[in-house]
Amino acid sequence: MTGRILAGRTAVVTGSNSGIGLGIAEALAAAGADLVINSFTDDAQDHELAERLSAEHGVKARYIRGDMAKPADCRALVEKAGRCDILVNNAGIQHVAPIPDFPAERWDAIIAINLNSAFHTSAVALPMMRAAGWGRIVNIASAHGLTASPFKSAYVAAKHGVVGLTKVTALETATDPITCNAICPGYVLTPIVEKQIPDQMKTHSMSREDVIAKVMLARQPSGEFATVEQLGGTAVFLCSDAAAQITGTTISVDGGWTAL
Ligand code: NAD
Repeated sequence: MTGRILAGRTAVVTGSNSGIGLGIAEALAAAGADLVINSFTDDAQDHELAERLSAEHGVKARYIRGDMAKPADCRALVEKAGRCDILVNNAGIQHVAPIPDFPAERWDAIIAINLNSAFHTSAVALPMMRAAGWGRIVNIASAHGLTASPFKSAYVAAKHGVVGLTKVTALETATDPITCNAICPGYVLTPIVEKQIPDQMKTHSMSREDVIAKVMLARQPSGEFATVEQLGGTAVFLCSDAAAQITGTTISVDGGWTAL
């Protein structure tokens, strides 16, 4: 997808100061969209990142703090953006433990950040999109929105929920010029995945290379991580005119994981 096909649009990307969210924000900006980037941190680097994206891509880019664990912050993020033609619900966290040992507080946080936030931001964004006469919602689910793994109860439940919310949002907007889809990445080497490697090395008594090849990518037939650039390109495609009749579905970017 080339050219500034999203010029004049404003994109709000939750959890976009690193990893996939940042990769998607970069791709949307390269396609000409103005940006609102977000995290819960509000560090100097967050504001510098917005300045860099603005300068590099010739778009307006702002950082707005908001804790996606909190419904009021989710809603305020979109309200403060003032305009939201493209909403990318990307913020997410992970915790890995068997169900009897899974801390209730981690369950609640994962469901709040990975699932509930998408409901709250969408609730505010949809009237804005209807008023503007155009809108795109891109929910970042996961291969774990379509399949399961042991020890990831909250994450798998949240991501299956995101896929369900995506379908309902698409049906409620089916006769509007608005689409809602979910991208389902397999493993992408971002901080959320980096953090899991030392634990997996200990659990399996394996080297870093073996954990990557034999544990993480064992379910990814391509044997390669997906990249944030590939996810950015997929998000831009979903925002393009070519995707205007694609709604309520999932696009897997998982090297064949869900074909197994
Ligand atoms: P990451 O840790 O690099 O990024 C997570 C982002 O969410 C960060 O920008 C962080 O600041 C933000 N965030 C976390 N808690 C937040 C909160 N309470 N409020 C606001 N922002 C918050 O991880 P990532 O791999 O880029 O993950 C992004 C999304 O992609 C997540 O929803 C994740 O579940 C999904 N995903 C990742 C992979 C993968 O292999 N990396 C695979 C499938 C799906």
